[in-house]
Amino acid sequence: MASPRFRDTGRFVVRAAPTKTFKPSNLRDLMRCLDPASKVPTPIRIRGAGTASTDCNANSSGTIVDTTGLDRIINIDAYNHTVKVEAGVRLGALVNALAEQGLELVGNHDQMERTVGGAIASPCIGACIGEQAAYLSTQVISLKVVTAAGQLMTVSEKQKHLLNAFRLSYGLLGVIYEISLRVRPIATFSASHRSLSVDTFADVASRLARRDVGLKFYVMPHIDRVYLDLRRYESAPGTSYGAGWKIKDWGESTVLPHVFKSLNRVLPIPSVKYRLMDSLTAATHGLVNTRLVRNGNNVTATGARKRRKPRNLLKSTWCFPASDFSVVIKAYREFCTDTLEQSGYRTDLPAVGYRIGQDVSSILSPSFDEPLIALQTTSTQEKGWEDFIIDLAQFAENWGGTPIFSESRAIRAEYGKQMYTSRLDFFRKMRRQLDPHGRLLNPFMAQYFH
Ligand SMILES: Cc1cc2nc3c(=O)[nH]c(=O)nc-3n(C[C@H](O)[C@H](O)[C@H](O)COP(=O)(O)OP(=O)(O)OC[C@H]3O[C@@H](n4cnc5c(N)ncnc54)[C@H](O)[C@@H]3O)c2cc1C
Repeated sequence: MASPRFRDTGRFVVRAAPTKTFKPSNLRDLMRCLDPASKVPTPIRIRGAGTASTDCNANSSGTIVDTTGLDRIINIDAYNHTVKVEAGVRLGALVNALAEQGLELVGNHDQMERTVGGAIASPCIGACIGEQAAYLSTQVISLKVVTAAGQLMTVSEKQKHLLNAFRLSYGLLGVIYEISLRVRPIATFSASHRSLSVDTFADVASRLARRDVGLKFYVMPHIDRVYLDLRRYESAPGTSYGAGWKIKDWGESTVLPHVFKSLNRVLPIPSVKYRLMDSLTAATHGLVNTRLVRNGNNVTATGARKRRKPRNLLKSTWCFPASDFSVVIKAYREFCTDTLEQSGYRTDLPAVGYRIGQDVSSILSPSFDEPLIALQTTSTQEKGWEDFIIDLAQFAENWGGTPIFSESRAIRAEYGKQMYTSRLDFFRKMRRQLDPHGRLLNPFMAQYFH
């Protein structure tokens, strides 16, 4: 008899002593927690807002260091355009404080409840205009870090290679305690929107990905629709009004997921349910994108800036070479329709895509070699999701997708290592020097980084 196939979803469940959580509110407490003499149970994992989609921020035994108590904005230098914050500051709080001084983050980053530490220790991607804005971590000038040995270490741009290792280091080299970032004066961009079929989008996708525009799009494979959001800096773009962007964010990330969760409960006939969901999504995108938001900036266009509890959305994100995306997007449509036919599963929310510029500022940059398109598959439909993301990972492998260790579910260890090539080997050597006993390594991260 054939043995049942084990399908690895990327979630680790180890039944052992319960996990301890420490929430330091100052540097001294953080150093004490990491000090080997304090004998906190290992492995130690670091958690910001906990919004990552994989077990990179989780432990089923050992210790979690919750950084959200380290939430001071230490200094905003409006003259030199820099800011210094503790790692647990929420992006929303930082965006608000910067806006009061006429400043904004470089790059448009959603998900305002996440922490600055989490957003620079893992890829923080968004609809960014320009090559310098691939990740928030690109803007890091210096860091203060508490190492696995409980020692305080400062890393600045003078130690280029070390700083490049700490950007996007997933908490494997130490706990980032304090961050200095480059920011900039608020600049208004124009936003134009189109609704296209997948084939028409495929015709223009590679050309768009090569241009210096902010590209975000929503794909609805089952009704053959792509909603395109293109952002450009113009010499006279007009005024940006926050209200339209707030309604857009509320419609897309609050109303639709809530309504869909209810529909999943009350409507038993899939064909009726999905027809209704697709019509609601199309109407929301048609209304909010084309009518309400024409101009924006990185403050107004970041959605809700009040801290909001992360919604239980299911997500898995893979990145594809921008130069191949015309082919990949058509294959994705086929993958989704085939999966529905074969397993009955489909996602209910649109997948969201972003263009990510080439970026060599970090050793573990997913777009180190070329510009990529990140495709974030999202759903509220739990039944069948775990199998779906395994098939999605296989699809991504077939199309040369690059995984993100905090956002791609079901990454095969060998494939993850292969895609990051010798850079991963270099990072692993550095990790072993800074954490020789693997105190910061949980079983999930050990698959790729041991
Ligand atoms: C609904 C939803 C939407 C999302 N949308 C986006 C999106 O548009 N763009 C995007 O890029 N991501 C998105 N994500 C993914 C997620 O928000 C990012 O991975 C985020 O950057 C993680 O920040 P966090 O504070 O939640 O960190 P966590 O999830 O807690 O941690 C992420 C990683 O960083 C490490 N880490 C955290 N803090 C520190 C620290 N102080 N020192 C060292 N290491 C640390 C952790 O160990 C872990 O490896 C989304 C997630 C959800 C649930």
